[in-house]
Amino acid sequence: MTDLLSRLLGERPWLLADGATGTNLYNMGLAPGAAPDLWCETHPDRVRELHRQMIGAGADLILTNSFGANASRLRLAGASDRVASLNLAAARLAREAVAEAGRPVVVAGSMGPTGEIMAPMGRMTEAEATRLFTEQAEALKQGGADLLWIETISAAEEMRAAARAAQIVDLPWCGMMSFEPGGRSVMGVSPPQLAKLIDRLPHPPVAYGANCGTGPAELLLAVAGFSAAGCERALIAKPNAGVPRYQDGGLIYDAGPEVMAEFAVLARDLGVRIVGGCCGTTPAHLSAMREALQSRPRGPRPTADAISARIGALMTDR
Ligand SMILES: [Zn+2]
Repeated sequence: MTDLLSRLLGERPWLLADGATGTNLYNMGLAPGAAPDLWCETHPDRVRELHRQMIGAGADLILTNSFGANASRLRLAGASDRVASLNLAAARLAREAVAEAGRPVVVAGSMGPTGEIMAPMGRMTEAEATRLFTEQAEALKQGGADLLWIETISAAEEMRAAARAAQIVDLPWCGMMSFEPGGRSVMGVSPPQLAKLIDRLPHPPVAYGANCGTGPAELLLAVAGFSAAGCERALIAKPNAGVPRYQDGGLIYDAGPEVMAEFAVLARDLGVRIVGGCCGTTPAHLSAMREALQSRPRGPRPTADAISARIGALMTDR
């Protein structure tokens, strides 16, 4: 039996993943510093509405509002005993929005890092991280997630722990790391090292890549490192809409819809199969990406210089 994402990847040259969850929920009234995951129970209507907007903007895959809903992260909000109910609610809300879509849309169960530094540098062991991720994954599966979306990871040990959780609950998964401007994750993992790690896993992902980070150009340069590593697996690129700055009491990201549209076209031409946006990516950004992917013909594989120049030109125009 083939999972929905693998089936869609077999049918189409590219798929559009959704935009931001957290930053869009802040725009919908979530208090700064509050845990977005809690809204699955306190404001289900607004979470469902964000999913609807992303589907309306053309998303083929949406992320559940559960990025920080592991027991370690939820402890900060005094909610570490609510992992099961919050993740169940997160997956159900996404399923409800998808049921109205009238076309196939993948429900990807978002799982972010534990927030603790992994041993031996930190105190989070791989076994404990596996236990935390498994608890979350189990509830996402029960709520109807098609797969697990393991994202913004920076340590190899944490990626392995989350992958193991996917294997234990028997769900397909996708894995992404977040890379710094120097081209490595905070914990020092390079894109080719991630590609190698992924290839050695006993339960490999459907697709893998990079998300979040410092902007679309930097993320694409990291993704070019995956293809250079010769990995055959489908690639994902889901960058932040640039860098945030404060304006009128809120956070504004400096990459507008036209920049993210250019990014989407460059990513596709680079061979990326799943294109989306992370922090700062609104439904308006996503609509522009969809429109560009559909209307602009496929071009040659862009060089690193072309990526920097084409995105840079649009950024300085703003
Ligand atoms: Zn992000």
